[in-house]
Amino acid sequence: MSRYRKDYYEKYPDTDPNYIIHHIDLNRRHNEMFNLIAIPNELHARYHFSRTCTNSYFDAYAFCPDIEEASHRLEFYESHIHNFITCVKEIAKYVQSKDRIC
Ligand SMILES: [Zn+2]
Repeated sequence: MSRYRKDYYEKYPDTDPNYIIHHIDLNRRHNEMFNLIAIPNELHARYHFSRTCTNSYFDAYAFCPDIEEASHRLEFYESHIHNFITCVKEIAKYVQSKDRIC
């Protein structure tokens, strides 16, 4: 078990042992407690998948000078962006309940 995972479960012993410890700022070397959140594996997978898909839109099309092409692609990516926002809101609930324990 990684050090940050061990530290997390020591500080929050009621955390589900099957949860993933996610780095909120996505920096896996940034292991301070405020940057970590335990979330279900399924939510973690959905978050990273939708984030990757959303980023690929922004990387490829958001600054595309061809506005018509960019907006056509945006429709295609809309569900990924929607899923990403849904995941962020779900993770925020875990962060809020964690903050109540601190
Ligand atoms: Zn993660």
